[in-house]
Amino acid sequence: MTFTLMSMAFDLHTHSTCSDGTQPPAEVVRLAAEAGLEGLALTDHDTTAGWDEAISVAQRHSISLVVGMELSCVTDEGISVHVLSYLHDPQHAGLSAEIARAREARIIRAQEMTARIARDYPDLSWELVLKHTHDDATVGRPHLADALVDIGVVPDRSAAFTSLLSSDSSYYVPHYAPDPALGVELIKEAGGVAVFAHPMAAKRGRTVSDRTFTEMIEAGLDGVEVDHRDNSAKGRDKLRQLARKYGLLTTGSSDFHGNGKPNRLGEYTTAVETVKALEPRASSGLQVLWHTD
Ligand code: AMP
Ligand code: FE
Ligand code: FE
Ligand code: ZN
Repeated sequence: MTFTLMSMAFDLHTHSTCSDGTQPPAEVVRLAAEAGLEGLALTDHDTTAGWDEAISVAQRHSISLVVGMELSCVTDEGISVHVLSYLHDPQHAGLSAEIARAREARIIRAQEMTARIARDYPDLSWELVLKHTHDDATVGRPHLADALVDIGVVPDRSAAFTSLLSSDSSYYVPHYAPDPALGVELIKEAGGVAVFAHPMAAKRGRTVSDRTFTEMIEAGLDGVEVDHRDNSAKGRDKLRQLARKYGLLTTGSSDFHGNGKPNRLGEYTTAVETVKALEPRASSGLQVLWHTD
């Protein structure tokens, strides 16, 4: 057996058709194994619906699995924040209620954005958006993007995001999501490990203030996702400094969305030592599913 550096690496941030990825959970796991990864985390937006399927196939592909989720949050300044949650209790009442509320708000918001766009592009309809959304998936702008590609308005998701679906666009509608400090608090209450996802992703819009960082750290933030394609080089330096100062874990991940984004599985990774450090920080009783062969 060849033993490469890659074979000890984890990709701690991936999406499936349970949210806005294009591949089912089992396929994400298979592709991660094929990419030579030691392990992956499945982190769909605001849902744990993919966990069972991912768990059922991980051993077969000789790959370790960290069950996770990416919690949508929004600051009082209207800045979108994503918090990765690993190994939390998926039944926790407080966290489940927040996710349910955000998922419901996402549907209303996607319907409103669809209605606004349909005034100018009448081929777009809510039925078409639903056709591009897997059953019970967390609905997001990527599903609207797929519908816009279908009717020939844009060539791909990325083009949709730089035009009609951008947060600066007149078609854009925000949706309810918890404050980031509340998000971290709920993840900790649910026994999970909270890692701030792509905190310095300036390309996606404004990045958070130092006050938000402080509030999240005070709420029990465990780590920051440093190595991610959307974080600027300067931003990564700042994150490493913060991590040293506050004893936070640092992770690296791809944010794989299948064919929905150029991000390749394993393009950034997290060392196995860091993955081992997640376990004692989780109080839910859930552990990393280490593969046994
Ligand atoms: P939403 O949560 O509905 O506001 O949509 C944001 C989601 O869109 C994020 O989770 C990203 O995965 C996805 N996204 C953001 N920018 C792009 C892009 N340029 N191409 C494809 N997907 C994107
Ligand atoms: Fe996404
Ligand atoms: Fe994200
Ligand atoms: Zn993500």
